[in-house]
Amino acid sequence: MPPSFERSSRDDRRSGQVLTPVPPPLRPSGRRGPSWRLSSREVLICVAVIAAADLSMWRWKLPLGVQALLDESAHGATGAAMLAALGIDVEMPVVLAVFAGSLLIDLDHLPGLLGSGALQQGTPRPYTHSLLTVSVMLVAAFLVSRRRRKIVIAAAVALVLHFFRDMAEPGGSGVALLWPVSDRGYVIGYVWYAAGLALLVTVAIAGRTSVPHIRGGSSRGDGRF
Ligand SMILES: [Zn+2]
Repeated sequence: MPPSFERSSRDDRRSGQVLTPVPPPLRPSGRRGPSWRLSSREVLICVAVIAAADLSMWRWKLPLGVQALLDESAHGATGAAMLAALGIDVEMPVVLAVFAGSLLIDLDHLPGLLGSGALQQGTPRPYTHSLLTVSVMLVAAFLVSRRRRKIVIAAAVALVLHFFRDMAEPGGSGVALLWPVSDRGYVIGYVWYAAGLALLVTVAIAGRTSVPHIRGGSSRGDGRF
């Protein structure tokens, strides 16, 4: 874009002929993208979603599809609570990475549901439900550009949180975190998941000073992830 010009008032007074260059406006590509931040009420809605999902699954023997829907909702809400605890506006690519890390790993159940043992033999959950997947993601994070690195790391952290919830499933068989070294399923009490969630929610609500929302760009130049 060629430089634009405006008149200098001083020179304008003298001759009315001299023009001074004015920097071009910022290009749209130079702006920050949309960001996301949960309000305290939305954080509490996340807790309600998790509580309703877990109580429903404990109370009733629901069809597998309904259980999956409830469980994934709770996984997504747990990821959202983690984002909320950061207490900052989070860029949408990172938000999407957290939800992807929270939810997509459970696609590895599909082969088993279709009768294939390709991803699960002797382990309580598919092989990809292990720290090996997290390790691969962390290695990948350092092979990509700096901007994409935080996106991959955010997805990896969300995946760890997913495993944390899976391990706390009441009556569940746990997660073979150390596969392929060991097939053992690691289990924790639901109270640990509840305590972790309570911590996230407490931090999130304590840090809330304004009602957040999705917005196009942010006037704040810092405090974003
Ligand atoms: Zn899972």
